[in-house]
Amino acid sequence: MISDQTCILFHEYTNEINYINIISGTGCASYVGFQGGAQSLYFGRACNVGNLCHELMHALGLHHEHTRPDRDQYVTIQWDNVVPGKQDNFKVKEGDTQDLPYDYDSIMHYGTYYFSSNRNPTIDSKKRESRLDREIT
Ligand SMILES: [Zn+2]
Repeated sequence: MISDQTCILFHEYTNEINYINIISGTGCASYVGFQGGAQSLYFGRACNVGNLCHELMHALGLHHEHTRPDRDQYVTIQWDNVVPGKQDNFKVKEGDTQDLPYDYDSIMHYGTYYFSSNRNPTIDSKKRESRLDREIT
């Protein structure tokens, strides 16, 4: 999926010093950006190809779309609905948006109800109908 849309190519490990080591485990998780050495990426049984793509994009250095510095023009975070202790997942991150438009449909964008404590939205879109508005949890 990534190689079809970008100039990024992946190949199987041979003897590289720095590489992504995909580990079977619980949940899907990755560090953001280059760590060096055998960089772990966790791929659990419940993870799908979209989850793997999302985690690989993290490993390549991308944060979540809804944490980009200009996000408040496009979405409203409903902080009162976020599970206590999970607020960090919605905090703005420093970074370069490369002048690319905000992408509601990005594989790096959370859905409307992610980390909701009360079944109410945690992210509302401001600009247009998007995947966020169509999503059913
Ligand atoms: Zn993520």
